[in-house]
Formats: sequence, structure tokens, C-alpha cells
Amino acid sequence: MSAKLFFDAIVVGAGPAGVAAAITMARGGLQVILLERGRFAGAKNLFGGVLYTHALAEVLPDYWQRKPPFERPVTEQGYWLLAPDSAVRFMHKSEQYRQEPAEAYTALRAPFDAWFAEQAVQEGVLLIAKTTVSDMLRDEQGRVIGVRTDRPDGDIHAPIVVLAEGVNNLLTQQLGLARGDLPPRFIALSVKEVIGLPAKEIEARFGLAGPQEGVAIDIFGDATLGLPGTAFIYSDKKAISIGMGLLLEEFVYHNLRPYEVLARFKAHPVVRPYLAGGESLEYGAHLIPEQGYDRMPDLAADGVLVAGDAAAMVDALHREGTNLAMTAGRMAGETALEAHRQNDFSADFLRAYRRKLEDSFVLKDLKQYRRMTDFLDSAPHFMGTYINFINDAALRYFSAHGMPKRQMEGEIFGLLRERRSFFGVAQDVMKLLRGMRG
Ligand SMILES: Cc1cc2nc3c(=O)[nH]c(=O)nc-3n(C[C@H](O)[C@H](O)[C@H](O)COP(=O)(O)OP(=O)(O)OC[C@H]3O[C@@H](n4cnc5c(N)ncnc54)[C@H](O)[C@@H]3O)c2cc1C
Repeated sequence: MSAKLFFDAIVVGAGPAGVAAAITMARGGLQVILLERGRFAGAKNLFGGVLYTHALAEVLPDYWQRKPPFERPVTEQGYWLLAPDSAVRFMHKSEQYRQEPAEAYTALRAPFDAWFAEQAVQEGVLLIAKTTVSDMLRDEQGRVIGVRTDRPDGDIHAPIVVLAEGVNNLLTQQLGLARGDLPPRFIALSVKEVIGLPAKEIEARFGLAGPQEGVAIDIFGDATLGLPGTAFIYSDKKAISIGMGLLLEEFVYHNLRPYEVLARFKAHPVVRPYLAGGESLEYGAHLIPEQGYDRMPDLAADGVLVAGDAAAMVDALHREGTNLAMTAGRMAGETALEAHRQNDFSADFLRAYRRKLEDSFVLKDLKQYRRMTDFLDSAPHFMGTYINFINDAALRYFSAHGMPKRQMEGEIFGLLRERRSFFGVAQDVMKLLRGMRG
């Protein structure tokens, strides 16, 4: 890299947000450099994961012809509520999920991110991997005018920088746009394992007709020891992705080791048969920003925009993150194009980016679920007490003891009363409604 490099725009991070921003700006005619610290785009990335195509289509309308490396279309999805030795399952299967391309696919991030970044290169973006941005360059007024990388003579200049550095948003913090001291109750840690199995075996175990079908299951309750958190099982082509996540605070408070919680979940009697005989192919952990709408970083400053996990754009309740990241990246790219047209890179002008996001599902959804983390904090028994109750109630309901049904219904009601008072239940319902309404 030469001593002084000038581009129209710099993007930091080749995840979904950064690549979407880079493609949008390159398609608009800008000279864009995309910097990624991993050996290649995707090398350091991990998600559950279900990828939603609506956001991808807005960035690359012909994405399907470009043959993205998806695993399986999601043709069945739902929730399992796990008690220590049982599960109540709510699954939804529909012919509507069978359209091609589908609305959602399971995917693995290393191949997907590498493919997505390759599409950016084909659009004219200069992708430089194995390069970490260590600092922001600023002029005397404090305006961002470029970045410093860990390469010798690695300063790069541009009137606009899109920060898409993910959850570990050190540069965003350096600019004072994000807090560096976020309490551990606002960050989750997820552990994931990819377990290899023959495709036919996966299809037999999940009741799938062939590679044209796939399943995405989100799991609550005993999977996270009844603590506020989620777990998941997704079918890939020749593997099962399984994982769980809890707020960092819970790991610390209960002295839990993430790999032990995952091992315990994998050994659950309902889960174990799905994994039997599988070979561990990948194991990793990643943080998820869960601070929500009220504690998001500022999204713009002079010469800079922030997108994706770096700006805490995750809707954990609906396991959505990549689609928020791609949409935000695209909107950051569009705003940068307008800034170039007007030759105005001031924070005032760049705030148009936030307005675009406020008009989209990204900030509308984050705003609606702004109280979710607080709700789970204030009603921890949702994942334990209620899920165990639902399982016990199901056992009574589905068993025939020769007992009159009225008596059975009374016993089920009694099971709830033993665990939570009438007022407690009413309070929890109110809190849940408040959490859902924003
Ligand atoms: C366990 C788990 C399960 C998930 N499941 C789902 C799911 O099913 N569906 C879904 O939509 N979302 C899911 N998510 C969320 C989703 O993964 C994220 O929201 C999404 O990846 C955010 O994209 P991003 O581009 O903002 O950040 P990232 O994907 O984290 O990309 C950031 C990139 O920046 C690079 N980088 C960082 N710092 C620098 C630097 N200083 N210099 C150069 N490069 C840098 C990183 O190497 C990385 O490539 C899940 C997340 C986790 C952890």
C-alpha cells in the first residue's frame, strides 16, 4: 500500500453491513476500498444462522443468478419450549415457504461472506483483507478524513468512512459515538457448533423430503437452564448448526462456562437423537449487541456513518441481524452517494441516514422491542417457571388417567398456582405486553 491513498469512500469490515455499503456506493460510481482484518471476508464471522433474502435482493437484485452459497431453504420453522426431560414444540410448515428463491435460507458465514465480498469486487470495490483499521484520521476540526491501518504507510484518505466493524466497535467508541463501558446485561455471548451428518440422515431426522427442505428451530427454557437466553438448531446441507446464547451477566452471575451450557443442551433427551453419530466440524463463539434502540450508538458524525452490529442493529427476539445490517449498509451507501453529489459530508447532512432507517423496519422494529432486555431482566421466570409449567400441563393434558377432565383441568390450574400467584401472572402478562409494544 503506498504512503497516501485517496478513495471516494472507505468501508471498515467485510460483514453483511460493510459489503452492502460497498456494493451500493460502487454501483453509484464511487471508488470504494473495503478493509477486512480477517484472512478473507467471513474468516472471523459466525452466526446461527438464517439469512433473509429480502435485504440481499435490495442490494443485489440479481443475487439469485449469482448463485449464493446457501445451505437449505427454510421450509419449516418454529419454537421448542424445553423442560428438563420434555419439549412442547410449535412448528410451522407451509407451501408458501417453497417459492424459489425462498424468503430465508440457512447459511454458514465463511462461504456466504466470501461470496458476498466477491460480488463487491465484481462491482469494482477494492477489497483488502488481512488489514486491521487501528485508528481514524481526523482534521483540525475533528472531522473524519480517513483511516490508519496496521500496514506500513497504511493511511487511507476519503471524505466518508462507513464503520461496519461489528459488535466489537472499537473505532466507533474511539470517535465517542458508542459507549465503551456497556454493562454485561446488554451483551450476549453465543456458542455454536456445526455437526456434520450425511444429508439423508438429516432429512430422515427432521422429516425433510430432500435438499429442497430445511428447518429452523429456536429453543427456550432448559436449553439455557431456564435463564433469559435462546438456543437454536438449524439444518444445513450436510450438517446441523446448534448453539445457545445468554447475556454475559448471566454467565458471570451464575458462574457458568459457555461450552458446558452448550454440552448440557446437546445432551438433552429431546435434542440428543438429532445429533447422534455426528462429527464436530466447527466450534466458535461470538458476541451479540443487545442494548437496543435506547442505547444505540450515534449513527453519524462529520465524515462517518455506522452500520450493523457496530450500531447494535440486532433484533434478537426474531433472530434477525444480517438483514438489518445489509439494509443499514445499503442506506449508509445511499447517503454517502448523496453526500458526494452535494459535496457535503457534515454530520448534519449525514443524519439523513438515520431518518432513512427510522422510516424502515430497522429502527421501527428496534424501537418496538426497545424494552425487551429490560422485560427479561424483570421477569426471569418466563424462561423457567412458565416453560416448565407448559410442559407439565401438556403431560397432564395428553395423559389418560381415568380421571374426569374437569378434575384434570383443575390440576393443571393448580400447577400454575403452585408456581406463581394470580397477581404475579397478571403482572407478567402486563410486562410482556409492554415489552412487545415498545
Ligand atoms: C450466534 C449468533 C447467531 C446469529 N443468528 C442470526 C441469524 O440466524 N440470522 C441473522 O440475520 N442474524 C443472526 N445473528 C446476527 C448477525 O450475525 C449479525 O447481526 C451480523 O453479522 C452483523 O453484520 P455486520 O456486518 O454488522 O458485522 P459482522 O458480521 O460482525 O462483520 C464485521 C466485520 O468487520 C471486521 N472488522 C472488525 N473490526 C475491524 C477493523 N478494525 N478493521 C478491519 N476489519 C474489521 C470483522 O472481521 C468482520 O468481518 C447471529 C449472531 C450470532 C453471534
